[in-house]
Amino acid sequence: MRAYAKLREKPDMPWSLDEISQFLDQQGIRPSFQRLKIFEYLVNERTHPTADEIYEVLRKDIPSISRTTVYNTLRLFLDKKIIQMVNIEKNEARYDATLSWHGHFKCLKCGQVYDIEIEELKLGGLAGYQVLEKHLDLKGLCPSCCQGK
Ligand SMILES: [Zn+2]
Ligand SMILES: [Zn+2]
Repeated sequence: MRAYAKLREKPDMPWSLDEISQFLDQQGIRPSFQRLKIFEYLVNERTHPTADEIYEVLRKDIPSISRTTVYNTLRLFLDKKIIQMVNIEKNEARYDATLSWHGHFKCLKCGQVYDIEIEELKLGGLAGYQVLEKHLDLKGLCPSCCQGK
């Protein structure tokens, strides 16, 4: 978990716009309303949306928002390392504001991408290698799809 998350008094509570504003400011990002709403959606919904999904949801509340603004804002957040890109499908970029080490599970039926906690992962044969990136991606059926709901 990154330092800022630990600093929050109640890490599991949704982030308020004030809190997001302060956080973006600390990261050297001017907290415009559209940037606040994009980060809020990522950090509070935690659904690993694509840029198009973010655009489709936010334009209901913010008719002036453009697809380009969403793409540019996501690029800025990536550059500042406050979000990560999730490429569980090669042709589909999803975005995640949870930066602690965790895996992803994509349901092949409903298409949702869930966070998976990793308690222990044992790898062999890595002596002499320097790991710069790690991703754990799983695919299958989520609990509700398994139950046929
Ligand atoms: Zn499912
Ligand atoms: Zn995630």
